[in-house]
Amino acid sequence: MTCVFCSIVKGEIPAHIVLDRDRVMAFLDINPVAPGHTLVIPKEHYENILEVPKDVLAELMEAVKAVSKALINYGYEGVNVLSNVGPAAGQVIMHAHIHVIPRKSGDELFKRPKTQRASDEELSKIAQELRRLI
Ligand SMILES: [Zn+2]
Repeated sequence: MTCVFCSIVKGEIPAHIVLDRDRVMAFLDINPVAPGHTLVIPKEHYENILEVPKDVLAELMEAVKAVSKALINYGYEGVNVLSNVGPAAGQVIMHAHIHVIPRKSGDELFKRPKTQRASDEELSKIAQELRRLI
């Protein structure tokens, strides 16, 4: 099966495009969580954002900024910028994409997850392990 985002890039599937640059593009999500919910993608196929090379990633984030500013100028108060990496994180289309989700006070789109204060000992242990893995 061909990738739906690659098909959008090739113009084989229509999309409501909001930004089209050399290596990146942005279009409205067909299943928005709010009107204006936009997806920003590299035109070349990468499975997720971890696979996107630095120079393309820079263009991708510039496009995310432009879309975010446009949504705020459109009348929204803020945005969430997020990318799902892997099915466990909710990634459905295996072509790297960044969601720009417009927000208004009290829209209750997302519930803040419950947090629990971690101990210094636990934080120190995890940070040490991550520094080793980076
Ligand atoms: Zn693709």
